[in-house]
Amino acid sequence: MFGVYIHFPYCRKRCPYCDFAVHARQRIPHERYADAVTAELDARAPLFEGRRAVSVYFGGGTPGLWRTDCLARVLAAVQARFGSDAQEVTVEANPDDLPSEQLIALRAAGVTRLSLGVQSLSPKHLSTLGRLHGPDEARRSVREARQAGFASLSLDLMFGLPSQTLAELERDLDGMLALEPDHLSVYNLTIEERTAFGAMSRAGTLKVPDNGLCADMYARVIERLRAAGFQQYEISSHARPGKRAVHNTLYWTGGEYLGLGCSAHSFRRLPGTSGAAERFAVVKSVDDYLKSPEIVHREHLDAAALEREAVWLGLRFLDGIERAAHLRRHGIDPVAAHAVEVERLQREGLVEVTEARLRLTARGVFFADEVGARFL
Ligand code: SF4
Repeated sequence: MFGVYIHFPYCRKRCPYCDFAVHARQRIPHERYADAVTAELDARAPLFEGRRAVSVYFGGGTPGLWRTDCLARVLAAVQARFGSDAQEVTVEANPDDLPSEQLIALRAAGVTRLSLGVQSLSPKHLSTLGRLHGPDEARRSVREARQAGFASLSLDLMFGLPSQTLAELERDLDGMLALEPDHLSVYNLTIEERTAFGAMSRAGTLKVPDNGLCADMYARVIERLRAAGFQQYEISSHARPGKRAVHNTLYWTGGEYLGLGCSAHSFRRLPGTSGAAERFAVVKSVDDYLKSPEIVHREHLDAAALEREAVWLGLRFLDGIERAAHLRRHGIDPVAAHAVEVERLQREGLVEVTEARLRLTARGVFFADEVGARFL
């Protein structure tokens, strides 16, 4: 599988919890950024010669802020190189910057899926998170996206918010489900050191729910979404049948991808090697990127490194790792390859092994990041 990711680094303002590579700008160089991305596409596409994209993903930042004619130009250039029959073309957007004409234009340009940064439907929590939209804008965006013809809609929901109670989360879940999304990405708020929330936390002015309450919230999310017909297929991802995210699945299953735009990463199998691959990333600063999309990081991955990564990523899936498929692909059974670690995790009740699969237990799902890290 192969996909293309396009990073759009601009946001209206930086949210106080966000430590992504974003630039809060009032003036966005729409044309110039599109020129830079298409030039980078021309330069890097030969590395992925002959691939057809199953997915194109505009992430950020807030790609919903990109002038639609510029985004459409980039999408057309990607399609000219890698085919126009991708199963999924996604744009991330925020409800505050999405007029209905833009939604219609995005559909006309070939965008099939919208990922909306709703996060919460509580005015109080949206304000604490520094979001520029309120619940009404979120509801309006969803309604207008459907009217514009988006058959696939994903919403982001956060929990573990400052001073949030379980009852407040329940109300958010009620509200989100009433919007009838096809997919939900659900994240526990994490306090990153180099953010405004990080500073407030150090100063003792930010109170977030403790780990016990967050675990209860996560369990509640899983329970409610399952009851509403969603399948949790990955740690943070819940989909209606047939609506799993193609692009993220590609990342988690070792698919190849070309990343375009500042700070984007790419991954490709190296021809003529016995299963080796490389990952590379371009310069982080958008100003440097606009001058030259230089590769600033390159990592060679041999077969053993790829096998470890496959276990780490595969365990993110609730179905876990299919042992026979892993053996076929990597030449080794994942349980045999990591016998000591797997045994230790089994004793701790975090993974389970069956004849067919290696996967997280219900308890392991809460500690997925820690479990995965043990294999790297
Ligand atoms: S809109 Fe998203 S990417 Fe932009 S600052 Fe807020 S959280 Fe970060």
